[in-house]
Amino acid sequence: MRRIGLTGNIGSGKSTVAQYLRQLGVRVLDADQYAREGAEVLKAQICQAFPEACREGQLDRTALARRVFADKEARRRLEALLHPYVRRRMQEESEKAEQEGCPLLVLEIPLLFETGREATLDGVLVVAAPRALRQQRAMARSGLSEAEFAARDQSQLPQEEKIRRATWVIWNDADLATLKARVAHWYREVQR
Ligand code: ATP
Repeated sequence: MRRIGLTGNIGSGKSTVAQYLRQLGVRVLDADQYAREGAEVLKAQICQAFPEACREGQLDRTALARRVFADKEARRRLEALLHPYVRRRMQEESEKAEQEGCPLLVLEIPLLFETGREATLDGVLVVAAPRALRQQRAMARSGLSEAEFAARDQSQLPQEEKIRRATWVIWNDADLATLKARVAHWYREVQR
């Protein structure tokens, strides 16, 4: 089974690419989904480490995000709690896919290069877009302010560096129909 990473900076269009790949029949694992699952499973530890992001034992994910994107050290502490869980879940699901005879597995991992995951993969597809477009999309989707977008973007490796390390790059600088066509083209290429 080939295992290909899918990454890109905030607002680049990773999840949209993942969705188009699923429509083409590709199995895709989503690190964000396991991070959300992990935040629930590890709620007690997270609340202990970040009491300001918890109310009556319930995690306030918005407050937690605000805290960790404003403070590098806090982000590291949260990642130290969550990343091992996310890795384990992705490993489990990856083994399951392999046992089921899946020929190609795509792993959508926002912090793929930042967490040194490329070494374990057969290639990395980077989704890239001009910063202004990424900002516009992220702000429209999540209601982030310009400053919040900038803080999140700066917490990631620069896009140029990801492009340099990529096996393939899909530019998402046009409309959604164009993106869909580029994804289909990429999929045909990797199947050869
Ligand atoms: P994040 O890292 O913030 O989770 P992402 O890289 O997964 O973002 P998406 O969620 O796929 O990015 O896209 C961000 C927003 O931009 C979504 O609302 C999506 O529908 C929209 N979008 C993505 N590509 C395009 C495009 N080519 N034209 C118009 N809107 C787009």
